[in-house]
Amino acid sequence: MQAKIARVQLDIDYLCPNCYLHFRLTNAEIPRDKYLNQNCPACKELLNISPIFFEVKATVPLERVRDDEDSLRAIKALQAQGYAKKEAQARVRAVRRDRMGISELIREAVTHEQPA
Ligand SMILES: [Zn+2]
Repeated sequence: MQAKIARVQLDIDYLCPNCYLHFRLTNAEIPRDKYLNQNCPACKELLNISPIFFEVKATVPLERVRDDEDSLRAIKALQAQGYAKKEAQARVRAVRRDRMGISELIREAVTHEQPA
């Protein structure tokens, strides 16, 4: 199973160039679209904090489609009727369900309406 991202936590540590204090902003405190002016918690110097934009994106592995025996036979049957291999595969995969007879599979694949 693929774990889903439920929550993203973000901490950024900033450094005051005046007194060298490190201070931390967390999640919603971090400016996202405009500059934030904040006084240094120690020396009270006014600090300009740049907005930060992060995109969190999980890379989803491409699912490899493996055609079962009946699907392969149906694809061959469609090819024999003049369909290109890719088209035959797409049609068979679109209509394939469990416990489907081979003739039913071929019939549905042939009559399947391809989205334009
Ligand atoms: Zn400071």
